[in-house]
Amino acid sequence: MRWISASKSFVIALPKPHQFTLMGACLLLSLALLIPATNSTTSHPLALDHLVDPELAALESPTFSLKQLRAPWAFDHVPEHETLLVPATGGAYQYIVRKGDTLSRIFENLQLPQKTMYQLLEADVNVLALDNLMPGHTLTFEKRDQELQRFELHFSLAHKVTYTRKDTGGFEFDEVQLEGDWRDELVQGEIINTFTGSGKKAGLSSWEAQTITEILKQRVDFRRDIQKGDKFEVLVSRQYVDGEATGNNRVEAVRINNRRHNYHAYLFEDNYFDEKGRNLEKAFQRYPFNGNYRKSSNFNPRRKHPVTGLIRPHNGTDFAMRIGTPVRSTGDGIVKRVVNHKYAGLYVEIQHGQSYKTRYLHLSKSYVRKGQRVKRGQKVALSGNSGRSTGAHLHFELHVNGRPVNPMTAKIPIAVSLTGKKKEAFQAQLKKYIAKIEQPTDKQLALNKSQTSESDRTL
Ligand SMILES: [Zn+2]
Repeated sequence: MRWISASKSFVIALPKPHQFTLMGACLLLSLALLIPATNSTTSHPLALDHLVDPELAALESPTFSLKQLRAPWAFDHVPEHETLLVPATGGAYQYIVRKGDTLSRIFENLQLPQKTMYQLLEADVNVLALDNLMPGHTLTFEKRDQELQRFELHFSLAHKVTYTRKDTGGFEFDEVQLEGDWRDELVQGEIINTFTGSGKKAGLSSWEAQTITEILKQRVDFRRDIQKGDKFEVLVSRQYVDGEATGNNRVEAVRINNRRHNYHAYLFEDNYFDEKGRNLEKAFQRYPFNGNYRKSSNFNPRRKHPVTGLIRPHNGTDFAMRIGTPVRSTGDGIVKRVVNHKYAGLYVEIQHGQSYKTRYLHLSKSYVRKGQRVKRGQKVALSGNSGRSTGAHLHFELHVNGRPVNPMTAKIPIAVSLTGKKKEAFQAQLKKYIAKIEQPTDKQLALNKSQTSESDRTL
């Protein structure tokens, strides 16, 4: 799917075939003549070696072979890595991230100066978008006057980040997320072996199946309680841009009907509730430590660098604290990364359910490893002063649905039942979900009759 979308966007972006040869030749000439050769033995910081995670890649992404990427306009006479460059509009060229790539290796292969990569990492420090590179993502490079002017990272059809060179020398960061078109789709099935296996067979993505087990983990023991023959219904909302699935999905409603129990989960205001309006997720704590520490810098998405004037968002809250202070996870979750970053220092990222993520930067020591489950309040690290840091402090971030929010003021889920007006609103939403789950056949029939163009829509 990803490959199809990527190839299609190339075709759209590409100029007429006869222009390729010329453009390609100029591009290669400039690469060969003008860019100072980087010394391939230069040691790169260990921090960059994690960038494309082969484990995740194997799980989530299709494998890209060179052959697949060799379009008719590929350059036959140049070394292998350069055949991965595809000219795009405006003199830019594109590169599709491959399994085993790291950012430093990509820059080295494309003969771009290491200094430029560090300037990008510097612009990225408060966003860390470059740490989410995965095989299949598209990178766009735009050069002028022998310098990289613009760098784009396309996560999906609906999500890209752009780094633009400013006169002051550094890069400025910008993020574009398209709203697209969200469609409700119903997936129904029966347990054959495991929930994940049966779910995928019925049409759920791995991510959706995992999310469901995560949402219901407080209520259901998926090994013991779920049995062969149990039925399930899942309402998912999936994002489309120009008719193509972007891979961004939201699980809206889940019903698993077992001989003994019915397990329900419904999404309402970013949280999951059962049919009685009881929260299925555990609460967060506001601060990532015990005790009191002074706030030394507030969350500020439009902060300007005092010297360069570049916008350098401060996507978290800083707390002044002595090196070695215990840092605690603010919620139950799974450790997504433990990384040593040139500027962010040693940092830990924790995923909490499908909507929340926390990050802890400039640490001196981590007590957790990737993939580990952690509990709210668990000591995950010791604070420090690593990376680019002006003094011992903890930088703490909270992200909701992929966007950084002020961790001191954000609405954080609290494990209580819904009451009053909220309960009414929840019940109204519940009715809508149930209607979508229980009347798909009639709706589908009506749709098929009136509108054949929407026949690919699964309801
Ligand atoms: Zn900070």
